[in-house]
Amino acid sequence: MRSQIAAGNWKMNTNIDFGQDFVAKLEDKELPKDVEVIIGAPFISISPLKQIAKRIKIAAQNCHDEESGAFTGEVSAAMLKSTGCNYVIIGHSERRQYFNESDELILKKILKALEHELKIIFCCGEPLEIRENNDHESFVQSQLENSICKLSKEELENVVIAYEPIWAIGTGKTASPGQAQDMHQHIRKVMRNNFNEDLAENISILYGGSVKPSNAKEIFAQKDVDGGLVGGASLKIDSFFDIIQSF
Ligand code: PEP
Repeated sequence: MRSQIAAGNWKMNTNIDFGQDFVAKLEDKELPKDVEVIIGAPFISISPLKQIAKRIKIAAQNCHDEESGAFTGEVSAAMLKSTGCNYVIIGHSERRQYFNESDELILKKILKALEHELKIIFCCGEPLEIRENNDHESFVQSQLENSICKLSKEELENVVIAYEPIWAIGTGKTASPGQAQDMHQHIRKVMRNNFNEDLAENISILYGGSVKPSNAKEIFAQKDVDGGLVGGASLKIDSFFDIIQSF
């Protein structure tokens, strides 16, 4: 059975005080029992948030692919695990775009994070020109086949996929529920072809790209959409709580 998930991605926003206040307030609300709530926090906030989070899971937004060593300024999967962090977001389009992360590097990061028993939110999604050329399905398929399709079935039990069309991230432009459903269905087909029916049916696939209270319900109602990865709207407690209640 796949889980329903509402995950926030705070990106390089918020500080420790803001984060602790937010998580404490969200913990006080009546959160739907069958929805997993995750906050993707800046590294520096993970440990303080873990001290107050009970029901809410905490994700990092990146990690390094090596175990340890002379990589000044980097954070390893082992370090994340030592904070009690639950998830790590890997392959976000901003990391691919601004930090030149390739599918190959992303796979290495995923393997390292899994080795340290972190769960993965793996992001994929096409830029606008690829969508306009109608190549979006093969583009996403190759992102999947170059990275998570190289994992074992057992490793994939700890992976959630987030489909995030780049043209919809932070732009206010959302994929229509039909566009989201079509791609999620395609992703399940890729997983079915590379693994089996069981795995394809049981892996959670989130939609990300300008999800907000006004569109979450319709997007989450799509058959192959299991929730959302939410940027901007996860920074305000009322809007994130509305999204959590949109299943
Ligand atoms: C994201 O950061 O993954 C994202 C989807 O951002 P936004 O919701 O702001 O488009």
